[in-house]
Amino acid sequence: KTIFNNVALLPPDALFNIKQRMSQDSRKMKVDLGIGAYRDDSGKPWVLPSVREAEKLIQEDPDYNHEYLNITGLTSLTDPAAMVLLGQDSLALKEGRTVSVQSLSGTGALHMAASFYSTTCKDKLVYLSDPTWANHKSIFEGKGLKTATYPYWNAASKSLDLEGYLNAIKTAPQGSIFVLHACAHNPTGLDPNEEQWATILKAIVEKEHMVLFDSAYQGFASGNLNKDAFAVRLGLELLADVTPVIICQSFAKNVGMYGERAGCFHLVLPHQDEFVKMADVKAAIQSQLALITRSELSTPPAYGAKIVAQVLNKPELTKQWHADMVTMSSRIIKMRHLLRDALVSLKTPGNWDHIVDQTGMFSYTGLSAEMVQRLEKEHAVYMASSGRASIAGLNSGNVEHVAKAINEVVN
Ligand code: PMP
Repeated sequence: KTIFNNVALLPPDALFNIKQRMSQDSRKMKVDLGIGAYRDDSGKPWVLPSVREAEKLIQEDPDYNHEYLNITGLTSLTDPAAMVLLGQDSLALKEGRTVSVQSLSGTGALHMAASFYSTTCKDKLVYLSDPTWANHKSIFEGKGLKTATYPYWNAASKSLDLEGYLNAIKTAPQGSIFVLHACAHNPTGLDPNEEQWATILKAIVEKEHMVLFDSAYQGFASGNLNKDAFAVRLGLELLADVTPVIICQSFAKNVGMYGERAGCFHLVLPHQDEFVKMADVKAAIQSQLALITRSELSTPPAYGAKIVAQVLNKPELTKQWHADMVTMSSRIIKMRHLLRDALVSLKTPGNWDHIVDQTGMFSYTGLSAEMVQRLEKEHAVYMASSGRASIAGLNSGNVEHVAKAINEVVN
């Protein structure tokens, strides 16, 4: 009778809690810079035109139904999804070194990676950036893996702590797992430049570490899929003779499929010795991945997967999607500039260039937890206590208000 009476009460999820507080705020001008979801210039969620078109096609199909998918998902999604990530000229694809299965969006792909590591290489340390998306730690530790951190953000200079990063790579036990944000690092919005990526990845190769790329913002960050896949593709090239690479791919942001949970898990094997049969290794891995899905979801969700499959397979929809990503990324970049310029013209103490230098959904503003608290209390501007602001929540109607509010709390 009392078995669950002493279950510990956990604090509410910080971000979803912001949403809750905000819904109870009756002030007219309130701004949500909390949750990482795209909003249009009127502050509304945006269904991508390519997605609207894809949905129409799906529903007009005389064979339309809600049957179960295969356990490993829709290959009409996973095949082109691998191509989007790895690129048309991918050697790994040409050489047949990839295993791709559908996942429950990016989180599900990470969870699958954690499960797979826990049954295949449980003793390896999983290195996460400091800071990182809070869920990373829960996902890996939830599967019994041990995590460690590598330095990333230098708070004083608001730039990459490359020295600390490289030092962590060098001192980590040989063959550890490094979780890297493919682009648009969450929460800092700070990505290594191409030269820094090369340095980082070469250091990883030296120590024969394994890499997991978390790719949640490809095309959303710059508007260009290839540019945002730079790190992934370089990593695959440099690690092709070294260690397997896992890539967790989300379509939440770049196709706007947040709640539909469309995503893929990809594992790319390195070149093998002649006596190893690649096809056998791949089949075994695929069977393990299928077991993970079977026991946890039975089969992956179909609707979002069908939409993304349409977008990736129908050339005219793919073209529209590319334009849609430019629409989203350019609006966000414009908001970064408007906010920075407004702070400069208000003569807000400090340098605000990092807001325009950072990329993707978020800006690590550098505001303290006290300032963030005051922003909410006095100005109804909501963001994470770390000072992470979701730039997608800004629009031409509220950016001035936000700038004045930041100016007030900084002064
Ligand atoms: N990784 C990172 C770094 C993210 O920011 C997110 C979304 N917040 C995800 C993974 C996963 O998102 P989803 O499960 O919605 O695809």
